[in-house]
Amino acid sequence: MVQLPKKSKKVIITKTSKPGGLPPGRGLAGQAIIALIIFILLASLYSALAGRSKGRQEISISTLASDIATGQVASISVTGDRLDITYENGLEKVAKKETGTALSTTLANYDIPQPALGKVDIQVRDDRGFFYWFASLAPILLPIIFIIFFIWFLTRQVRGAGMQAFTFGQSKARLTTPDDKGQKVSFKDVAGAKEAKEELREIVDFLKNPKKFLDIGARIPKGILLMGAPGTGKTLLARAVAGEAGVSFFSISGSEFVEMFVGVGASRVRDLFDLAKKAAPAIIFVDEIDAVGRVRGTGVGGGNDEREQTLNQILVEMDGFEPNEKVIVMAATNRPDVLDPALLRPGRFDRRVTLDLPDRRDRREILEIHARQKPFGEDVNLDLIAERTPGFSGADLYSLMNEAAILAARENRTKISQFDLIRSIEKVIIGPERRSHLLSQKEKELTAFHEAGHAVVASILPYADPVHKITIISRGRALGYVFKLPIEEKKLQSKKEFLDDIAVALGGYVVEKMKYDDITTGPSNDLQVSTALARDMVTKYGMSDKVGPIALENAGGKPLFGARGGDKEYSEEVGGLIDGEVSKIMNDAMKKVEKIIKENKKLLESIANRLIEVETIEQKEFEDILVAHGIVPKRKKDIEHQP
Ligand code: ADP
Ligand code: MG
Ligand code: ZN
Repeated sequence: MVQLPKKSKKVIITKTSKPGGLPPGRGLAGQAIIALIIFILLASLYSALAGRSKGRQEISISTLASDIATGQVASISVTGDRLDITYENGLEKVAKKETGTALSTTLANYDIPQPALGKVDIQVRDDRGFFYWFASLAPILLPIIFIIFFIWFLTRQVRGAGMQAFTFGQSKARLTTPDDKGQKVSFKDVAGAKEAKEELREIVDFLKNPKKFLDIGARIPKGILLMGAPGTGKTLLARAVAGEAGVSFFSISGSEFVEMFVGVGASRVRDLFDLAKKAAPAIIFVDEIDAVGRVRGTGVGGGNDEREQTLNQILVEMDGFEPNEKVIVMAATNRPDVLDPALLRPGRFDRRVTLDLPDRRDRREILEIHARQKPFGEDVNLDLIAERTPGFSGADLYSLMNEAAILAARENRTKISQFDLIRSIEKVIIGPERRSHLLSQKEKELTAFHEAGHAVVASILPYADPVHKITIISRGRALGYVFKLPIEEKKLQSKKEFLDDIAVALGGYVVEKMKYDDITTGPSNDLQVSTALARDMVTKYGMSDKVGPIALENAGGKPLFGARGGDKEYSEEVGGLIDGEVSKIMNDAMKKVEKIIKENKKLLESIANRLIEVETIEQKEFEDILVAHGIVPKRKKDIEHQP
């Protein structure tokens, strides 16, 4: 079964902003169009009303009187002071009379003969009618209404933005509630990590049964810091603690606190802690806390105010906990060395749990966990896969299993075979095969000799890891590669091993130089890796005779010794000493390799030629070639290596 990365359905508890009750999804452009339409409607209504009387000619009362006298007027309609006059010939005109006097009184003053006046049909309209008021007020009111509407429209926009600014400070934490069965993770889902689980069981106990601890006056840790390389299961373990204890789990990443504006992070922290206290018992999980928890006040050109404020707020919140608050803060980082010491003080993240890369037995367990719902063929041997994957993290193993399932599915098989798993190991390490990338004949030959060079040196030098596979099928960014594995898993590396590793890395470079009397860009990565290793030997591990037992740099590469401040990291003398020693290690290694290649020309050629022919040499065949040239292969006896 292929398990594509699960889209977990998470409850986002950010209250989504509802700016002023706007129907959702209507954009600003839509609103502008609506405003424009309303404006046009109002404007046309206004001009229609205003123009109602403009179209007609306005005449004076005396003109009206003489028109009545000459019998041209058919009817007059009186609305307040306004006279709408209709002529016999259909013309319509308007006139105004004095306010407060009746029309008949006004006309009487003009001596209109009675028969002529009697002919005119005079109607008096109620001047308090709606239409009258509307008609007379509209020219004044409509512009005012329009302006009010416009102001309202603008403020609504501003209010919307204001609402957004308001929700900005809310935490973006994702909440997993204990009754969310689909996402429940327990300690059973975390393989290995025995000590870590042991430590955390106490926390689970407390969250399950806080009374027992509080009654006896025990102080429960407020903060637990999970440390470990990426993919070692820190996030997974934190979830498992919440799952085991059956409490709410608020998860947020350190980087989510930090926004462009100073103060937002701090307000998010406050919001998150408030939420968690309401939901107590609960766990707050701050993933990648190094994003906010770096040592304060060391930023070049001034510290990052926002980060400092956020960090301060976290510290304040943690200090402000009452012991009976039943909220525990967990945090994860893979850079404990850069954390601010204030975070690690007692009463804050004073419990520290380290997660190591899994060893062979743990790897086997992790593989089993992720193999749970996958159909496997008979030939699958997870022990062998665990054996072949030193240095893999839990996440790598998870992705290995998934790659294998995808491979099997792509080839329309219903079961995953051992071969799929083996191929996935390389895929996870180096990236997918690029069969389509065709090397020219010359490139192919050069790559074959280059890789053969690595392989020869690795087989001759006593402390180098034995070769498992050589290939010139390009993968990821590498044109070809030699796949070496240590005989045993190593926690410590010695100077002799480092020197041999550097020599092996130079194998390709030296062969190119000797055979073609030229150097391509191919070995550039080899050179970078080996130079960095040589430098570490000098500056970190005290492995150079001239420098002696001094660590010049700490783990992060910052000078510990010989530093001069300012722009220069080291004083001239120390810098020169390092450079001299690094270059001596590299040159010694190159001489050693040149000697080995000269002495094993035959072996080199047969490996290279075989590579050109078949492109990939597996361990068994490689060892046969070694034996044929009188070299004893290094290999661990008790493990079967060939699938
Ligand atoms: P981290 O947070 O340390 O970077 P994660 O917890 O996100 O690593 O691990 C990523 C994935 O790797 C997990 O979801 C899980 O599938 C797998 N994994 C890691 N460690 C383990 C383990 N010890 N047991 C089982 N699965 C693991
Ligand atoms: Mg993580
Ligand atoms: Zn190389």
